[in-house]
Amino acid sequence: MIIRVKVNNMSEKQQSAQLPVCSSCNRPIMPGDKASRFNCPECGDILVWRCEKCRKFSREYRCINCGFEGP
Ligand SMILES: [Zn+2]
Ligand SMILES: [Zn+2]
Repeated sequence: MIIRVKVNNMSEKQQSAQLPVCSSCNRPIMPGDKASRFNCPECGDILVWRCEKCRKFSREYRCINCGFEGP
């Protein structure tokens, strides 16, 4: 008889998942932050992240792909 042992193999999700980085201030954006993200209006290839602070102060961001700068 084979005894099946249930292994609680809840492999912990790796915490090292890369955080998005604010395109304006280059700070990592935490999961709970009220950051906004949108695709670059110019090339559409890059997902631009803006942290709460940068939204508040409407800092400029720069697309790393096409160099588009905008508020
Ligand atoms: Zn920022
Ligand atoms: Zn772009």
